[in-house]
Amino acid sequence: MRSPPNRSVLGAASVLTLAVSSYFLAKFSFRIESNPQFYLTIIPAIVSGFNIAILFAWMAFDILWSIPISIACILIVLWLDLRSGAHGYSLFILPFFMTIFMGFWSRKAGNRVEYWYNLRSEKLNEKVNILSNDIKSRKAGIDSLEEKLKRYSTLKEVVGLVSTHLSLDEINRLMIEETSKILGRPGRVMLFLVDTERQELKLSASYGDLKVMTKTGDIFDHWILRHRQSLMVEDIAKDFRFPTGGLKKAEKAFRTLIAAPLLSENKVIGILRMDSLREDAYSQDDLRLLDILADLGAAAVENAILYSKTQELAIKDSLTGLFVRRYFSERFHEEVQRAAMKKGELALLILDIDNFKNYNDEYGHAAGDLVLRYLSRTLNGLVRGGDMVARYGGEELIILLVGRNKKDAASEAEEFRKTIKEKPLSFRRHVANITISIGLAGYPEDGVLEEELMKLADKRLYKAKKGGRDRVCSS
Ligand code: GH3
Ligand code: MG
Ligand code: MG
Repeated sequence: MRSPPNRSVLGAASVLTLAVSSYFLAKFSFRIESNPQFYLTIIPAIVSGFNIAILFAWMAFDILWSIPISIACILIVLWLDLRSGAHGYSLFILPFFMTIFMGFWSRKAGNRVEYWYNLRSEKLNEKVNILSNDIKSRKAGIDSLEEKLKRYSTLKEVVGLVSTHLSLDEINRLMIEETSKILGRPGRVMLFLVDTERQELKLSASYGDLKVMTKTGDIFDHWILRHRQSLMVEDIAKDFRFPTGGLKKAEKAFRTLIAAPLLSENKVIGILRMDSLREDAYSQDDLRLLDILADLGAAAVENAILYSKTQELAIKDSLTGLFVRRYFSERFHEEVQRAAMKKGELALLILDIDNFKNYNDEYGHAAGDLVLRYLSRTLNGLVRGGDMVARYGGEELIILLVGRNKKDAASEAEEFRKTIKEKPLSFRRHVANITISIGLAGYPEDGVLEEELMKLADKRLYKAKKGGRDRVCSS
């Protein structure tokens, strides 16, 4: 469409030309008689002015303006004709019709040009819109690519980090912190690991301000355990897979979640999960990334477990789960040094099962192993936090009691002996009445050197055996 100011200008020009022409006509029409020259000069000029006014009117607003302007022009000329009495003026009306005709055609042509112009400008506008939309979507694409690039480069760092950390606690902490950082989304991150002994999930680490309601996982975690695949719930109240009845509590804690299993040989060893109170807080891209992180986590967790098992194997006896003699000696050495510095006290107990050979002969070696395990477990439960029970060799155990004087240690050793004697182990409808003999040496009363204390405790154990077994000997 032509712009409105153009029409207004043309309309104004039409009215102005009409007014100016009328003014001159009024001014000179009185002098026509006195100067006949006006017929040839002024009057044609004025009539041309009227024609121009009619033309402008057409160009401005079509018939709407051209008709009143044309009628005005005709009336003015007729008035001039009547006033002058010389009827030749009426002839000037004829060019008006010519002008009206010209105006009509010019307007029609103008309309066609306008139409074509409008069509073209619409098409151009459409193209501009398509291009600007394209630019917008490309920009969004670039932004999301940049975000992905950032996420994946951080992912590379995580690979480096988890492969250098071997402790399970460190891996757990790292996993939740990095997940929150890489995803950069609101909400809390939780890492559950499967407790193989209890066969249930156990919350190993969490990150974020939402309170963790259940430490053994909820219906969503159990769904993952069963299906062994990742899960995305955009709104827990609307997801048909999960009954809404049991969700009342959960709804208060979160509204949307993404979670991925940590898989090892197709078995779920844990779950990495993120949830938020905000609806639709996560995208499919976030879930894919969480899946990758869970895979990384699975490998790292497996490594850490393997590493700690290897470490344990190096210092722990496989049958009894007690520390091995070499490790005990190292710790004993450290404790003696510490006691020397702090003027502390220690007690060393060497313990041997009475007549164990007979027991083995009677019930078999496997039954003997059970007794050894039972004894180890019981003693481990009896000692205090800083103490240590180790397998000295065969069916002989060694115990270090830290921070006890000889007298207290002797009464504790007596308690051990009594407990073992009074709590017999029953298996295969047979009750094992086990007794033990203990040799005890105290630091610093009996000596300050490790070998000295060992020898003395050993000697006293021998003495206990000689004295009839089932006793503690400390002198
Ligand atoms: P006592 O100590 O009262 O003098 O008599 P004992 O029969 O216990 O004698 P000793 O301590 O010398 O015997 C050691 C026996 O312990 C020999 C072996 O059959 C048994 N033994 C040592 N290590 C193990 C083990 O790992 N498993 C089992 N089942 N038996 C073991
Ligand atoms: Mg023995
Ligand atoms: Mg022995």
